[in-house]
Amino acid sequence: MARLRLEHGTVLPLDPADAVIHRGIVIVEGNRIAYVGPMPGPAVEPGDQIIDTSGCVVMPGLVNAHTHVSMTLLRGYADDMALQEWLERKIWPAEMKLTPEDVYWGALLGIAEMIRGGVTTFNDMYHYPRAVADAVQKSGIRGCISGVMLGMLPTAEDLLRDAIELVSQMKVKAHPRLIPMLAPHAPYTCPDSLLKRMAQAAGELGVRLHIHLAETRHEVEDSLKEHGATPVRHLERLGIFETPTVAPHCVHLTDEDIEILAHRRVGVVHCPTSNMKLASGFAPVARLLEARAVVGLGTDGAASNNNLDMIEEMMVGAVVAKGHSGDPTAINAPQMLAMATRGSAEALGLGDQIGALKPGMRADIIVVSLHGLHMQPVHGVVSHIVYAARADDVRDVIIDGEPVMRDRTLLTLDEAEIVERANECASRLVR
Ligand SMILES: [Zn+2]
Repeated sequence: MARLRLEHGTVLPLDPADAVIHRGIVIVEGNRIAYVGPMPGPAVEPGDQIIDTSGCVVMPGLVNAHTHVSMTLLRGYADDMALQEWLERKIWPAEMKLTPEDVYWGALLGIAEMIRGGVTTFNDMYHYPRAVADAVQKSGIRGCISGVMLGMLPTAEDLLRDAIELVSQMKVKAHPRLIPMLAPHAPYTCPDSLLKRMAQAAGELGVRLHIHLAETRHEVEDSLKEHGATPVRHLERLGIFETPTVAPHCVHLTDEDIEILAHRRVGVVHCPTSNMKLASGFAPVARLLEARAVVGLGTDGAASNNNLDMIEEMMVGAVVAKGHSGDPTAINAPQMLAMATRGSAEALGLGDQIGALKPGMRADIIVVSLHGLHMQPVHGVVSHIVYAARADDVRDVIIDGEPVMRDRTLLTLDEAEIVERANECASRLVR
């Protein structure tokens, strides 16, 4: 089998967390990592393709653990508003006009942006999930796909049936880069009976739940009034966490909430930019990590961020943790990098497959150039990836063993066509 050899780079396997291999080599065989170590490594075999990574970092791809990728179409459409007003007055009315074609082109725009920024897996929740799945297949990225369930819609029953059917179909086909989930939007948009049915269905199908949780103070206050419990405690009482769950935000948490999330191994997804832009607050990430909760990192949708740049998200998450707590040691660079890779992978239930460079794991690898002026001199590569790097520094991206970007050129997607089609869709939505 022809192999890929990434030679001479500084390798960050992220397993163990603090390992750095100067002048390292990573060998990919098929869709898996076959070898990680110092140069020269095993002998070159006929047919091996060599990628010179001198002056670059070779590391696991970033995992964007929460987004609504097709919301790239609404990027910059509504800024500087509070979450509820933003949803009800701007986002939901525009989304009422969505077609599967809009979702497809919006997804391709977001996926192209993510690949160019070193993201190799994303976890999505949106309307017309089949269109997102098509975009995942076309692009070569790895995607967790779920249709968003809003319990107040008159079509909720149809949506549920369709969501379950989609998961069953995807499970049967077992595409290596498509991971289905079920996604009730939030505890406050889905009645208890629906939440329970979705959790039960997810359990039976062997997939995760993906649900926004404890995002705003308002949500917590309403939950206390209506259920006499915080949103986290409420879901715990309903038995929802018996099913493995991914929960973006988790901004407003009590000590008991943190205990529940850690004990239930809920994949908390920290979305610092979105939470600050919508003034929702700042998640108690340091306390969650102390409690040994599973914590990943996500950008949320491009309408509340306003990009899908995970390198920027790491920087924002790290510096705001310090500014918010008054403690400059809060969330250091290695913790942040772990959150954006292994942490996110674990939150999605993929911790044994992606998020580290280790023989036997899926070959999701990025090559980040250290050549830029803003990256020199190089005292520490982990510090540079979190605090100095930009999305544009990502040079090559390999997903499931297949190169999808080489020397900043996308190999699977036509950028000009995507930009044109996405712009057509976007202008119709806001007209
Ligand atoms: Zn979201």
